[in-house]
Amino acid sequence: MDYYSSQISKLIEALSGLPGIGSKSAQRLAFHIINMPEEAVCTLADTIISAKHNICYCKECCTLTDKEICPICASSVRDKQTIMVVENSRDLAAYEKTGKYNGVYHVLHGAISPLLNITPADLRIKELLLRLQGDVHEVIIATNSSIEGEATAMYLSKLIKPTGIKVTRIASGVPVGGDLEYIDEVTLLRALDGRIEL
Ligand code: ZN
Repeated sequence: MDYYSSQISKLIEALSGLPGIGSKSAQRLAFHIINMPEEAVCTLADTIISAKHNICYCKECCTLTDKEICPICASSVRDKQTIMVVENSRDLAAYEKTGKYNGVYHVLHGAISPLLNITPADLRIKELLLRLQGDVHEVIIATNSSIEGEATAMYLSKLIKPTGIKVTRIASGVPVGGDLEYIDEVTLLRALDGRIEL
């Protein structure tokens, strides 16, 4: 039975399709939006649409950006010979927040997962291998310490090692199964400093 008018139900349904939003949160958000001033709702909708239209993948590192080359890859002070491989742009942001990493990144946009049917071909691995044809000294694999993250790290190390480029993996200290984006800066830095060669 439709307790609400169909327009509200439609909004609740659309919101509950977002990650982390259950049906209760979706209802709360829907009613909040309905009660917002019309101008604020328009600004919110416009912001979403313009973000969708203007955000693309960096041609170098594949992170989400609104320019052809993201500010990190475009920076002349970053060490382009050190590439840290992360699962997503949120993990990149977590390491950037520490302010202590001076290399560049490569964003895979996921991790290998037979369960979810995510294969290496679904990740930005081709793009990474292309970058490794340039002058690269070290690849730091900073995928999460979940089963998927570890499988991805092993896959990448097997792929990269024959090129002769140094491959390292961030140390534990990052809890098993932990998402990088939720880990504090001190732990992230300790994991980076204690990285081991694969
Ligand atoms: Zn970039």
